[in-house]
Amino acid sequence: MLLEICGLTSHYGRIQALDDISVTVEQGELVALVGANGAGKTTLLRCLSGVQPISGGSIRFDGADITRASPEKRVALGIAQVPEGRQVFGPMSVEDNLRLGAYLRQGRQVADDLERMYTLFPVLFKKRELPAGTLSGGQQQMLAIARALMSRPRLLLLDEPSMGLAPLLVAEIFDVVQSLRGDGVTIFLVEQNAHAALTLADRGYVLETGSVVMTDQGHALLADERIKQAYLGL
Ligand code: ATP
Repeated sequence: MLLEICGLTSHYGRIQALDDISVTVEQGELVALVGANGAGKTTLLRCLSGVQPISGGSIRFDGADITRASPEKRVALGIAQVPEGRQVFGPMSVEDNLRLGAYLRQGRQVADDLERMYTLFPVLFKKRELPAGTLSGGQQQMLAIARALMSRPRLLLLDEPSMGLAPLLVAEIFDVVQSLRGDGVTIFLVEQNAHAALTLADRGYVLETGSVVMTDQGHALLADERIKQAYLGL
């Protein structure tokens, strides 16, 4: 088991945002967490990256307890997050944004990884010298994913990669996620777009007001009547 979240609880002041969350992600798996606005998805990711106080429970990564580990330590262990809203460095070139993703490493390996990213995302190669801020929303999302991959993460955390994108671009982003999964990258995907996420995912969790209310294989959740009504508009 690569990631093991056990009985996790988190508060904002006196407001409980997460209640007894248990989630696992195996090596090589694509696991989706779906839920409506305000369900607690972002809070859970913040707990995973170490920037959100945890009031109970534990997080283990590759067998080690990281519940109280610093964000830097988690990055060094191989947990990379692609934040919601992309957050690329607009004035910097596409290539410099990518190099930033590899700041913990140096030398030849970085050049190899740049090449790998340009193969995976040809549009980033075409635009490598342009300021990242000139890219379209979908391209910025690709850049944010590629930047995270530059750190050669063992676990990639994706926070709502489809947010704010036109349907065609959403499809493109999910194609990328699928191909990463095919390459063996372990992915924890947090999405409001339940249909797209559960279609790709090996397994999924449904979060409602801070609690996991259902978990199953992706296709089984897609076929579930309650999920269809509440999340797929069917
Ligand atoms: P979204 O898709 O809108 O990001 P989400 O599922 O990620 O939603 P969270 O942002 O994790 O949900 O929020 C979970 C709960 O915690 C919500 O009830 C929200 O109002 C509350 N919350 C989030 N941030 C804060 C904060 N800084 N202070 C107080 N309450 C907060």
